[in-house]
Parts: sequence; C-alpha cells; structure tokens
Amino acid sequence: MKRLGAQEQRILSLVADDAAQLHVAPPRVRFVTTSSGPCYEALFNCIELDRATLALPEPLLQIVVAHEVGHATQRKRMLLDFAWTMLSVMALLSLPCIVFATSSDEDVWRVSVPGFGFVLAFFACARLRRARDAKRAAAFELDADAKAALLCGPASALAALEAMATRGHIDAARLDAMRARLAPTSQ
Ligand SMILES: [Zn+2]
Repeated sequence: MKRLGAQEQRILSLVADDAAQLHVAPPRVRFVTTSSGPCYEALFNCIELDRATLALPEPLLQIVVAHEVGHATQRKRMLLDFAWTMLSVMALLSLPCIVFATSSDEDVWRVSVPGFGFVLAFFACARLRRARDAKRAAAFELDADAKAALLCGPASALAALEAMATRGHIDAARLDAMRARLAPTSQ
C-alpha cells in the first residue's frame, strides 16, 4: 500500500474532524492528478482532491475540505435522487416496449404515431428533469457552503469563495448567499 505524505495525512484528519462535527461517517478521500477541481461522489462516499486544490493555502484548503464533507451530509438525498432518476427513465423507456409488445396490430401507422408521441414526451421529460436537477445541484452547493461556514466561520468561507471565484469554480448565487450569511454579523 502507498504510504501517505504528511499533507495527505493532514487532509484525512481534517476530513475526520469535520465529519465528526457534522455527525456523518467520514468519507474516503482520493488524491488525483487531474485538474478537475475538488468534488464529492455520493455513490462511493468519496471526496476527490486534485493537485491544484492541495496547493491552495491552508485556510482555503480547510474550507474546500469542509465544503466537500458538507456534501457527505447530503449523501442519502443524492442517492435517492439518483435512484428516482434511474427509475423514471426505466419506467418511461419500458412504456413503449409494453405498448408494442401487447399490440396485436402490426400496422406501421399504429406503431409510428404513438412512437413519435413517445419520443416527444421523452425529450420533454428529459428537459424538465434537467432543469430540476440543476436546481437541486445548486441547492446542494448552497447547503455545503452553509456547512463550511458553520465549521470555519462565514468570513473565512466567503474569503475562500471569492478566491475560488477568480479561478472560475464559483457561481454568483453562492457568493451572494455567503455574503447574506455574513451581513447580520458585520454590522
Ligand atoms: Zn460542492
């Protein structure tokens, strides 16, 4: 087994501390060489940290870790969302199969019209689903930011978001939400 460096050990203990404070099982951590940015995988309960993230100054890195552990608190909801998506797609795809299998009439017209209707319905559902998924994903990000603010303080979390925004990882809604969180205490 590969021996972990001092920094990797430090991250693991940060993850364990944050997880204990948020009352979740500590997620696994995978150190990757890609430059995809930090992320959380609900299926394997695993945080991925890339080299550029590991090179961040310590206070920033702590907030990134806290944010990713924040995602681990959403794991059940993420997995249920994934299961519902899979079930809906399967149910939708099985509909025309059942209709065609049970239809005794092989007239092309009778098959192609409902088939065309199905394709339209499928794309309409996929569009609605995508919009809903984007909304859910944004809500998960805001919630993970809230957890990071809880663990590291909103002022540090906001400074981290602003620094990350210059690298293009952060959308404006997350910055606004963090500023709003800080507003009552900064007066
Ligand atoms: Zn996130």
